[in-house]
Amino acid sequence: MNTKHISLEIPEEVSIVSRVLSSATFENYLVGGCVRDLLLSRAPKDYDLTTIASPEEITPLFEHTFYENDYGTVGIVNEEPRLESLRVIEVTPYRSESAYSDFRRPDAVTWAKTLEEDLKRRDFTMNAIAYDIEKKELIDPFNGQDDLEKKLIRTVGDPGVRFSEDALRMIRALRFAAELGFAIEEETLAAILEHKDLLKHISKERIKDELIKIVMSDAPSIALGLATQLGLLEYITPEFLKGVGMEQNQAHAYTVWEHLLRSLDHAAKKKFPLHVRLAALFHDVGKPDTRVWKNDQWTFYGHEVVGAKITKKVLMELAFPKEIVEKVTKLVRWHMFFSDTEQITLSAVRRMVRNVTPELIWDLMDVRACDRIGTGRPKESPYRLRKYHAMIEEVMRNPISVKQLRMNGGEIMTVTGAPAGPHIGFILEILLSEVLEDPTLNEEKHLKTRVLELHSLPKEELARLGKEARAKNELEDEKESEKINQKFGVK
Ligand code: ATP
Ligand code: MG
Repeated sequence: MNTKHISLEIPEEVSIVSRVLSSATFENYLVGGCVRDLLLSRAPKDYDLTTIASPEEITPLFEHTFYENDYGTVGIVNEEPRLESLRVIEVTPYRSESAYSDFRRPDAVTWAKTLEEDLKRRDFTMNAIAYDIEKKELIDPFNGQDDLEKKLIRTVGDPGVRFSEDALRMIRALRFAAELGFAIEEETLAAILEHKDLLKHISKERIKDELIKIVMSDAPSIALGLATQLGLLEYITPEFLKGVGMEQNQAHAYTVWEHLLRSLDHAAKKKFPLHVRLAALFHDVGKPDTRVWKNDQWTFYGHEVVGAKITKKVLMELAFPKEIVEKVTKLVRWHMFFSDTEQITLSAVRRMVRNVTPELIWDLMDVRACDRIGTGRPKESPYRLRKYHAMIEEVMRNPISVKQLRMNGGEIMTVTGAPAGPHIGFILEILLSEVLEDPTLNEEKHLKTRVLELHSLPKEELARLGKEARAKNELEDEKESEKINQKFGVK
């Protein structure tokens, strides 16, 4: 057995769990990603222990536990952890994997009797190193430390066999390449090329989990670039394939796909949250479907509308949380706004804030920054950026919905003495359209006067103006997107 004495710095919270197990005579080891990360001097995301004990034996030893899943993992909970990585310490019984009938996950979980069996079923050599906390000893039967030193991702055992057992491991290899900046070892790489088609058996949920980790890594383009070269992209997000190698106009130094990868890398560099990173990745996904040669160059008119639809479809299919889908879709839909410098007026910005919602407006600016950097062109003038920021702040203080009028439906009924009915809504819409044009009009005295004026109009006249105002207030963007929808034959 390949062992080595080494002193790793283990948090006390983790050592205690290990000691409790040991004193109940259950052998246990730190294992997997945390050992790898400690050896690389990276902060582990979480700490996993593997043990000879069964879930039924583990649970009574600790105060606050939960029994997690099909794999027998028991979570030991720290209510008020010093670090998020110490909130739950996972303890999993030794496992080995039995038959794989569908290229994904074993048919049944089989408990194992030894650490060696457990290490053998793990994906990569660097993830198959165990650490005996008390003895301060590494157990490394597959020479994971060598590969860590060489910065190589290599499967435990025959890569073809291991990828046939669980095809997701191929995407995990790309993910670790992006997270750690490692290369994929030659035979492992060759096996990926040979077995990539098995990925069609893998569930969208599992692919999504790895995609999230790729996108959240420091250099997502490493994984997605490899996915492109190796032909794995079509199993992850085939919607991007059309943009691979697709030329753009003179404003862009890069192809559509390269631009998206560079935008995403910038989002990662800035440590933006998941939805902003995804928006950076997806923002031009509609370009290939909208590319038209016009006046000696390529145009992509309406690509943000088409792109938003594609984004929504892709993220929903991958079973991303609804909240993420909605945020990313909105950011993609409106990402062109701040590119079109001509059309940026206060009332346009006001409409924009309504469309993208105040919650997302600053994220939209971040997506815009990623887009700019991703083109490889010099930065936008700092003056203009400051100006946009100022405009956003200004309109955020102004009303963008009838709710923000200084007068509500009930007050209009009091002022006019009129009963409830559609005319109240018409008056509100007219007031809003006027206030959107001139925010200073949102003031009680003026509104009262204007309500009485509108109330004195003939019923039909009021209805007509009200409907007009409503259409103006609410449907401008929808009208526009519908036009584009028709033009490109999308729904
Ligand atoms: P992270 O830092 O993202 O948590 P990790 O290496 O801990 O990375 P996990 O997905 O949390 O990755 O898995 C924990 C460990 O379980 C891995 O280190 C590996 O040993 C093993 N493992 C996870 N998924 C697989 C798989 N599909 N096939 C084989 N072993 C796996
Ligand atoms: Mg982990």
